[in-house]
Amino acid sequence: MKNDHHVVILGAGYTGMLAAIRLAHRTRRADVRITLVNPSARFTERLRMHQIAAGQRLADHQIPDLLDGTGISFVQGTATAIDPDGRTVVVDDGAATLDYDTLVYALGSSAATGRVPGADAHAFTLSSPQHAVRLAARLDEVAAAGGTVTVCGSGLTGVEATAEIAEAHPGLRVTLVGLDEPGAMMGAKARAHLHRALDRLGVTVKVGSRVSKVLPDAVELETGEILPSDVCLWTAGVTVPSLAADAGIAVDDRGLILVDATLRSVSHPDIHAIGDAAAVRMAWGRIHGTCQSGMPTAQYTADAIVRLLRGKPVKPFRFGYIHQPVSLGRHDAVIQFTHADDTPRRAYLKGRAAAFYKESVSGSPVPVYRLSKRMNVSATLFKGGRATREPAA
Ligand SMILES: Cc1cc2nc3c(=O)[nH]c(=O)nc-3n(C[C@H](O)[C@H](O)[C@H](O)COP(=O)(O)OP(=O)(O)OC[C@H]3O[C@@H](n4cnc5c(N)ncnc54)[C@H](O)[C@@H]3O)c2cc1C
Repeated sequence: MKNDHHVVILGAGYTGMLAAIRLAHRTRRADVRITLVNPSARFTERLRMHQIAAGQRLADHQIPDLLDGTGISFVQGTATAIDPDGRTVVVDDGAATLDYDTLVYALGSSAATGRVPGADAHAFTLSSPQHAVRLAARLDEVAAAGGTVTVCGSGLTGVEATAEIAEAHPGLRVTLVGLDEPGAMMGAKARAHLHRALDRLGVTVKVGSRVSKVLPDAVELETGEILPSDVCLWTAGVTVPSLAADAGIAVDDRGLILVDATLRSVSHPDIHAIGDAAAVRMAWGRIHGTCQSGMPTAQYTADAIVRLLRGKPVKPFRFGYIHQPVSLGRHDAVIQFTHADDTPRRAYLKGRAAAFYKESVSGSPVPVYRLSKRMNVSATLFKGGRATREPAA
């Protein structure tokens, strides 16, 4: 193994944390330094942002505490530029410059508010705890007056947020707007449960509607219909930081880093990309950004770096989905079990058992980090079986 190899990991979200801690454990007897860069010292449980928006208080997990005893250096700051040829990262516009031998890019994604006029200026998002706290405060204000909330985006994040807000504020009139039917990717029974839950919570669902504009006090649909909205929450689509593209690292049309079968940048192999910021393809199709798929990319990449440092070959990354877990407020949920390609199986779970299941999923990353300091814990539930097996030579 090369002497004093420096691995810099950008982003201490779900995937960056796991990659850093697992790598530290696996290289504890080797001459490897690890630096983890993240803007905040508090670990963001993004899976729970809708809970903050509904006024709940989350556990305060501090990144330095989670890293305690690992030997990882934590740099609190924002990576503002990468020089992939000189192998450096600039933090906070020059406050620090980090040299690296290997870079792990784990910057995640945020709500895509740039695609519709007015969304950036007038819509709330769940992109960070600060955004979610601002939304919670505004919801408190308008709930007292029985105000109106429009959630734009009928994907699973939109559904979870809608249910959580409607449950926490029964006085609000909540509308969920989106192109697709909520739960469109689920089987009929799971989808029906999801719809019953939204109905029970008094949510109005408008599907097949594209939002054309967000105004200070309304949402305008392409049909010209105006939905008066004291609050607009934007969950329709995600966007990734432009750091990789700005640095000349090969990205796809969405700005995600193009990776090979071992999750290394196709243009700069000393850069590994994981989580939402990586464009990962399996035999069955494209992985879409979830924690479920992100954690395995992090585990895999930590192991791949160890193997590369030892001069060993690295097998291609393999992953298959197992479930779509969706909270419907605090006491209900629906879990659609899936095939590797995320299409629904027959099995699903609903009600309190599903809420317990969902909570176990959302609560699992932090215990995995703690255990990973001492042992190689698997965060990969399923590699995809036949769906991702390489064809025999
Ligand atoms: C409300 C909500 C509910 C969700 N529910 C589920 C679910 O039930 N199941 C599921 O599988 N997925 C769910 N997701 C998706 C899941 O949260 C993401 O797929 C996951 O967080 C991706 O992990 P990541 O490490 O790639 O990115 P993140 O967890 O977003 O972490 C990225 C980190 O990088 C940091 N960062 C960003 N820019 C910079 C920079 N320039 N320099 C340094 N650091 C930077 C960020 O601050 C952050 O800490 C949900 C998302 C939301 C918003």
